[in-house]
Amino acid sequence: MIDVLVIGGGNAALCAALMAREAGASVLLLESAPKEWRGGNSQHTRNLRCMHDAPQDVLLEAYPEEEFWQDLLKVTGGATDEKLARLVIRASSSCRDWMRRHGVHFQPSLAGTLHLSRTNAFFMGGGKALVNAYYRSAQALGVQVRYGATVDSLEVRDGRFIAAHIGSERIEAKTCVLAAGGFESNREWLREAWGQNERGEWPADNFLIRGTRFNRGVLLKAMMDAGADTIGDPSQGHCVAIDARAPLYDGGICTRVDCVSLGVMLNREGKRFYDEGEDFWPKRYAIWGRLVAQQPGQTGFCIIDSKAIGRFMPPVFPGVKANTLPEMARQLGLDETTFMQTMNDFNAACRPGSFDHTVLDDCHTEGLSPAKTHWARPIDTAPFYGYALRPGITFTYLGLKTDETAAVRFGGQPSDNLFVAGEMMAGNVLGKGYTAGVGMSIGTAFGRIAGTQAAAAARKEAAHAAA
Ligand SMILES: Cc1cc2nc3c(=O)[nH]c(=O)nc-3n(C[C@H](O)[C@H](O)[C@H](O)COP(=O)(O)OP(=O)(O)OC[C@H]3O[C@@H](n4cnc5c(N)ncnc54)[C@H](O)[C@@H]3O)c2cc1C
Repeated sequence: MIDVLVIGGGNAALCAALMAREAGASVLLLESAPKEWRGGNSQHTRNLRCMHDAPQDVLLEAYPEEEFWQDLLKVTGGATDEKLARLVIRASSSCRDWMRRHGVHFQPSLAGTLHLSRTNAFFMGGGKALVNAYYRSAQALGVQVRYGATVDSLEVRDGRFIAAHIGSERIEAKTCVLAAGGFESNREWLREAWGQNERGEWPADNFLIRGTRFNRGVLLKAMMDAGADTIGDPSQGHCVAIDARAPLYDGGICTRVDCVSLGVMLNREGKRFYDEGEDFWPKRYAIWGRLVAQQPGQTGFCIIDSKAIGRFMPPVFPGVKANTLPEMARQLGLDETTFMQTMNDFNAACRPGSFDHTVLDDCHTEGLSPAKTHWARPIDTAPFYGYALRPGITFTYLGLKTDETAAVRFGGQPSDNLFVAGEMMAGNVLGKGYTAGVGMSIGTAFGRIAGTQAAAAARKEAAHAAA
């Protein structure tokens, strides 16, 4: 019988598989996707957030534990477990040497990539290269990998893992690590979680999924049915406003539109609905998906003028271009009168200041609701550019409750042979909100813990059987 069965094929699963194998366990990894789509959401990533007390190769200056913790506390509004969060933070300071040993390379952040050069280490070649490196290393170490292997149910008895099922096939193992992502690709579940709004709309019907189509929450649901303790709210997750033309799945990073703080955001009715200049874009980009989700038709329209060009990472798909604002309204299909009223009101409310996109500058509006509190400059210089945006779900936060051993818990008791890592438990640390790069910090820390613990549990099991 295999020692450690790892279910999932992204970062958390691979970290678990590698650690378990390094600890001497036999490991089988089951990835739902075919080989060419392996790697889940992890294949779309670019970086991980790392604590460091002094400059470290690609990381500038220092990013101490306390600052990382305060950032996390702020974005989650306290919906986080401090013990587990600090464990992730500390692990993020020491994991990169291990990652390098498994073939991951790092590079400094590029200009315009959300100003993360101090806090985040970027993967050379992005998440795809990271995942490929881990698979290569896993296979070299003797981890068995099966693709197209979607586990559809689990046998769990008295809080212990017995077997996983793929159709009629039954796979037993001494221990199991669940690392099969959230339920972000399950559109029915998203629909149920987000419900119907006061306009009679089902907002989730208009969501796009930024990552893999394989994270359908099948095992999360199975574990909930088996009585595992859960954490998090099903409607919470990471949700970004992305180009409305993005594909339903796997649009990835290039569908993001990063010019909101340089312009104005309107809804389908041609009205503004939130302060576009509330804070630096890296601290705000992840709230706009939810904000757009609350608007009629779950659509937003970001309008900039030519003064903004060159100040943000250009999206892959060019925006609608117009030489006048009324022409922009017509091209975006918005009511011209309301649109012009909104734009004229905004332009008139902008107070002169010293524009500086690198600081929270003094360019703001006066007498306008909602205000734009920084980087407010009249949208008056042709050509104008407009982007239709829709909510893009990155990942969901509902997950399995766990502790510092990564054990799945039943009625408050840790399982002795079932462990969890990555998105399936990220909600323990991330009850809401987001700070860039922390998804990979959580998955790397808990993937490694889960793998180590599973290998140790398998050894114990073997010793017990031999006695
Ligand atoms: C576009 C995009 C960009 C992102 N950028 C970043 C970033 O730069 N930094 C960062 O920290 N985070 C980023 N994230 C978030 C990050 O991807 C996740 O936090 C992280 O990858 C989660 O890792 P995971 O291993 O838990 O899940 P995943 O990588 O999604 O892996 C889940 C795996 O489980 C498999 N699976 C699902 N169900 C089953 C089943 N029933 N049986 C077998 N296998 C199954 C899937 O096929 C997949 O391989 C980004 C996400 C997206 C979508």
